[in-house]
Amino acid sequence: LKLKDIKKNYYTKFETVEALKGINLNFRKNEFVSILGPSGCGKTTLLNVIGGLDQYTTGDLVINGKSTKEYTSKDWDTYRNHSIGFVFQTYNLIPHISILENVELALTISGVSKKERLEKSKQVLIKVGLKDKINAKPNQLSGGQMQRVAIARALVNDPEILLADEPTGALDTKTSVQILDLLKEISGDKLVIMVTHNPDLANTYSTRIIKLLDGEIVDDSNPLSDEDEEKEQLKETVRKKKASMSFFTALGLSFRNLLTKKARTFLVAFAGSIGIIGIALILSMSNGFQLYINKVQEDTLSTYPLTVEETTMDMTTIMENMVGKKEEQEEHDLDKVYSDTVIIEMLESLMKGQVHNNLKDFKTYIESGESKIQEYTTDIKYSYNLDIHVYKSTFEYGIVQVNPSNVYEGLFDAFQSVGSFATSTTATSVALFSEMIDNQDLLESQYDCIAGRWANPNSYNEVVFKVDENNEVSDYLLYALGLKDPAELEVILDKITKGEEVELEKSSYSYDDILNRTFKVVLQPAYYTKNEDRNAWVDNRDDEAYVRRAIENGVELKIVGIVRPKENTVGNSIQTTIGYNSSLTRFVIDEINNSQIVKEQKANPEIDVFTGVEFVEDDITITKIQEIIATLPDAQQQMFNAYYNNMVNEYGEEEANRLLSKMFSSYFNSGNTYEKNLEVLGVNDLSSPSMISFYPVDFESKDKIIAEIDVYNNQKIEEGNDQDTIHYNDYIGILLSGISEIINAVTYVLIAFVAVSLVVSSIMIAVITYISVLERIKEIGILRAVGASKLDITNVFNAETLIIGITSGTLGILITLLLNIPVNLIISYFAPIKNIAKLPIGSAIVLVCISIFLSVLSGLIPAFIASKKDPVVALRSE
Ligand code: ADP
Ligand code: MG
Repeated sequence: LKLKDIKKNYYTKFETVEALKGINLNFRKNEFVSILGPSGCGKTTLLNVIGGLDQYTTGDLVINGKSTKEYTSKDWDTYRNHSIGFVFQTYNLIPHISILENVELALTISGVSKKERLEKSKQVLIKVGLKDKINAKPNQLSGGQMQRVAIARALVNDPEILLADEPTGALDTKTSVQILDLLKEISGDKLVIMVTHNPDLANTYSTRIIKLLDGEIVDDSNPLSDEDEEKEQLKETVRKKKASMSFFTALGLSFRNLLTKKARTFLVAFAGSIGIIGIALILSMSNGFQLYINKVQEDTLSTYPLTVEETTMDMTTIMENMVGKKEEQEEHDLDKVYSDTVIIEMLESLMKGQVHNNLKDFKTYIESGESKIQEYTTDIKYSYNLDIHVYKSTFEYGIVQVNPSNVYEGLFDAFQSVGSFATSTTATSVALFSEMIDNQDLLESQYDCIAGRWANPNSYNEVVFKVDENNEVSDYLLYALGLKDPAELEVILDKITKGEEVELEKSSYSYDDILNRTFKVVLQPAYYTKNEDRNAWVDNRDDEAYVRRAIENGVELKIVGIVRPKENTVGNSIQTTIGYNSSLTRFVIDEINNSQIVKEQKANPEIDVFTGVEFVEDDITITKIQEIIATLPDAQQQMFNAYYNNMVNEYGEEEANRLLSKMFSSYFNSGNTYEKNLEVLGVNDLSSPSMISFYPVDFESKDKIIAEIDVYNNQKIEEGNDQDTIHYNDYIGILLSGISEIINAVTYVLIAFVAVSLVVSSIMIAVITYISVLERIKEIGILRAVGASKLDITNVFNAETLIIGITSGTLGILITLLLNIPVNLIISYFAPIKNIAKLPIGSAIVLVCISIFLSVLSGLIPAFIASKKDPVVALRSE
């Protein structure tokens, strides 16, 4: 080892301190050198320069004949790690790790295996006489013992040079002697350079004394010539491996450091986790709601199939029309009272929004198997404009029509007389019978058959009776179905409206009682008999005896089973109390179509079968309308004229006339038409349904069905048959997707708010890490002294923030999971939704990652600052 004219200047703001003013020194391979000199003469500086801890300003340090002028900081790290052992006056042990680990440190950095590390460290600790203190912490030792540990640490990597800066400076004489004995022994095969204040000790133990004064050598008791120095080659360094600390070591160091301040670490982690908790809670909720919506959507699909109706409203057109109307409002002065044509405009836009679907073609298309629609559906149901007239088959309560039932008529009247119900509700007849879907599996997945059996799909006269979850049927249904005397209901209603007391009696029926009931279907043509004289068909519904006969001769329906909805099914594909098969629909339509009256009507479309004369059928003309208007009072005439002029202004005369005549026709033209007669007779064309309902196989299938309809539409457009395209309204889809979008929007807004707390916690973690850097400056110096590189130091702090990030992330997730329990309890208290808050695992993982990422990110600058710390300054700091 050779120092060639080494100069070291310290530059401060005010002056340049020349700590070393040209040192020339040669050292032997093994000797015990003492450096003596007054305080501030540059002893420590010299030692640091030799140890590569500090870099000389000019001159050269020659190691093994090699100049160090071109050394990189990595080279110095390696040099310090492998060739140098430092011993300091203040021991400089890392307080939060054990003696053994302190000693191991240098080995850890040079990447020695765990086993070897332990072995070597134990050996040196035994050598310095600390066999039984191996697992103690530094603060449990005396000063002499700590200095032994420091020596052990310096020796453990078997360096060639041991540098000791006033090793006995803080020790009593007795202990000092022991330490010097130890150093003396070491100097047997190593170069030991010791700085001391104590000339006596130096004289007694060292083989060479160098005196320093103001950065210059003033005396050297045993100098070495340049020629001799060349022979004193240090042991060839085969260990070329670069010094580097594994990240695992960094983790261990930081973990142990964090353990010394558990409360603070926990609080920091907790504070950091608050943002995570917020976001996790929001995600749990929105995820839960989304799952719930999906489930509801799936469940409701069977109840609310995708339907295409013969006449439907194109909601988008209607909306556009209405919104458009509002925008192009006419400007006028606020000098008079003006009319606002609200109703007419609304009617207009409704009419414009009305579209007709050619379901006949579409049905043919579906049944041709050209499309995949059938694959995506469990059932396709075709509905017709068909009222099946069903009567109770016995007459103990007189003639009771059970479908459509008009028991409600009385009910509504009663409600109206009570007065709390709007009088507009004049619904008169209600269907108690409805067609079931054809898919038996879907039916059985929604209902249990609790008595009897399911209706055989092929026999049109078998029906099932539906009860609710509690085996109950509401009382008015019992009246409506003729299980109770409808007349009784009238009496009760009468009493109630008069404010009299009524006894509420609960009745029950045995399954067999229900199963034995039968009903009779009367086909519409059966009400009519032909009057040959007038050549017209006469309605006999006023003739009770005739109707009774018709019922007796009707088609019998038999209840073959009682079904009950399964628990927890939202699906409800039997919509009324009595469900019949589609075979009944087909049977009734066929029968009606084959009846004499229908055949006659169809054979002579111009002749009204009910009157025997020709139909009078014409659209009301504008002239006729004006004639009628002329009979009205003046005020109304003026109103009409104003409105009419408005229309003409807006649409032009022709279009205005057309719209008006269309609007008024239905009011004034009450005469029969061919179509109306067929409708009255219940005539339907099986190939031309009024509605098609698609029951999707699953959630995704609905979209696929829609896609298939679009394919069909495109095909029609290409063929030039635009009028045959199919318009559908996916109300449920629109509704639910709207809710999903709202949930998403709310989620994002909330997350944006909560993200602020993440920013805050990141800044906090940065501050805490910076404080930690300040606290661990000494440790940084020690690590650098034993050969840790700048990157290693960065890693130590990155490890610290990593640990904090992991802790706060997992803490956040754990707290969220705990919070979800009361949150779910509260929600299930207010709404019938169980376990709505559910944190998806993926989100949890992502959140922990975000937490780690943010804390590591926020710790990067402090870690960088730490790595930039000058090891000398770091070691000097207290
Ligand atoms: P000794 O160890 O002999 O007491 P030092 O080597 O510590 O002396 O210091 C030598 C001289 O260099 C002193 O005058 C000291 O003030 C100065 N010095 C040491 N380190 C620095 C520094 N980082 N910045 C400025 N001056 C320094
Ligand atoms: Mg000093």
